[in-house]
Amino acid sequence: MRLVVDLNRCQGYAQCAFLAPDVFAMHGDESLLYNPEAPAEQREDVVRAVAACPVGAILLELTDEDMAGMVSQDTVAGAGAASASGGAR
Ligand code: SF4
Repeated sequence: MRLVVDLNRCQGYAQCAFLAPDVFAMHGDESLLYNPEAPAEQREDVVRAVAACPVGAILLELTDEDMAGMVSQDTVAGAGAASASGGAR
């Protein structure tokens, strides 16, 4: 995945560093360091960090690899839902 933090918007609240410490880190009180090409294994933590940023400063671009992981999870969830509704008739 690819990340961009709008450092003009970032207010240093550090929610991202708390939720995804392998990707974001505070340097001093206000300066944010981050990995702009975080590995796919960090996707869940990064998505939480994006959602938690109070000023919406984190932009996330998912790669095909990231999307493939999400589709397979949706497929499993969808299969479970279909099976449940089929049983209810
Ligand atoms: S949560 Fe948002 S505002 Fe806070 S440090 Fe991270 S990017 Fe900046």
